[in-house]
Amino acid sequence: MIKTKSPIWHPFTQHALQDEMIKIVRGDGAYLHTADGRRIIDAISSWWVVTHGHCHPHIVRAIQKQAGKLNQMIFAGYTHDPAEEVAALLLKLAPRGLDHVFFSDSGSTSVEVALKMALGYWHNVGKQRVRIVVMQHSYHGDTIGAMSVGVRGVFNAVYGPLLFDVTSIPFPARGHEQATLDALESACRNEMPAAFIVEPLILGAGGMLMYPAWVLREMKRICEAFDVLFIADEVMTGWGRTGTLFACEQANVTPDIACYSKGLTGGALPLAVTICRADIFDAHYSKERTRTFFHSSSYTANPVACAAAKANLDIWQDRETRQRVASVATMQEQAIEPFRADPRFANVRRTGTITALDLKRNDAGYLAGIGPKLQAFFKARNLLLRPLGNTIYVMPPYCVTATDLDQIYAAIKDSADALA
Ligand SMILES: *Cc1c(COP(=O)(O)O)cnc(C)c1O
Repeated sequence: MIKTKSPIWHPFTQHALQDEMIKIVRGDGAYLHTADGRRIIDAISSWWVVTHGHCHPHIVRAIQKQAGKLNQMIFAGYTHDPAEEVAALLLKLAPRGLDHVFFSDSGSTSVEVALKMALGYWHNVGKQRVRIVVMQHSYHGDTIGAMSVGVRGVFNAVYGPLLFDVTSIPFPARGHEQATLDALESACRNEMPAAFIVEPLILGAGGMLMYPAWVLREMKRICEAFDVLFIADEVMTGWGRTGTLFACEQANVTPDIACYSKGLTGGALPLAVTICRADIFDAHYSKERTRTFFHSSSYTANPVACAAAKANLDIWQDRETRQRVASVATMQEQAIEPFRADPRFANVRRTGTITALDLKRNDAGYLAGIGPKLQAFFKARNLLLRPLGNTIYVMPPYCVTATDLDQIYAAIKDSADALA
């Protein structure tokens, strides 16, 4: 059959290889409902954003209410309650020592803002520090700056000429943590970088690679010793994914700049924040206009998105939410445990509510044929899972049930036989 070319150009999609898209008409809780009446378990929270489930009633009501009142306005020279409330609550919940909130609309833009804040800081305090240190296998988004500080590979090889040069330190693989710390220390000592940007505890798109909190704490200590700004990209790790509200809490680390997005609105609307310490804001605070932080997007702090974020923050202030996260972490551990003894899988791992395991294959890597085959296998079982190459991971919304998880892990187990 000849494929008709879709008028819509979908993200991360090779249309020439894509089967017909599944049309979704409704979402509720952990489920997506298809036009042809099937129910799909959303085992990856629709690309890591939907934290409390689809169409959470408290968030939906907040959106409805705000949409009829004030749904967009300029945010330079003007402000509104939803943004003020979100900022105040965020500063209460984020690691202590973060003082100012800058709004944008996606994880990638929150990273761009963080990088610009770091360079603006050094420029405004009169020091020539511009280099960025990054960690191997990191992912920070798909805009040019975010790609520059992320892993180089098949995803961005074509755009290489546009990307700026960075210093990369190795991922702290188990038993090799010291090499990471030594590389960071040497980069900080020798290159006088402006900042180090890192995903705390879990490198998401890089393959759900996990490292312990003590390494995060040590990396922060090294940056501090050399006056290098520490940027925590918590776009994925925030909002309970690692077991705590933010991953940095587990290392008792306050970053100089933190990026939050994805679960910021509970996954209902696009919104992001970049939060920084007072000295970074203060370096821009001046009667001189040239020291202004020159960044904006048309929809900065959109009131409806902020209302959704406020509703999400309400949910997080409910003690039950944290209990729910803890119970998902426990259920996930119980579900993944049997795989540790299964010789067909390797690197069986969990941090907080996220599990991952690698299907043993000779043809590993994202473009190896195995990823799409696994995806198709899970699709046929009415499961939304999207392995990263041969790495299968489960990152469910917190309303997932034990029965849902049984179904997910039974399919993962069967996939090893089906694709052997
Ligand atoms: C998803 C992600 C981003 C990019 O967020 P978008 O909203 O897709 O632009 C940045 N950093 C990390 C760690 C991410 O997981």
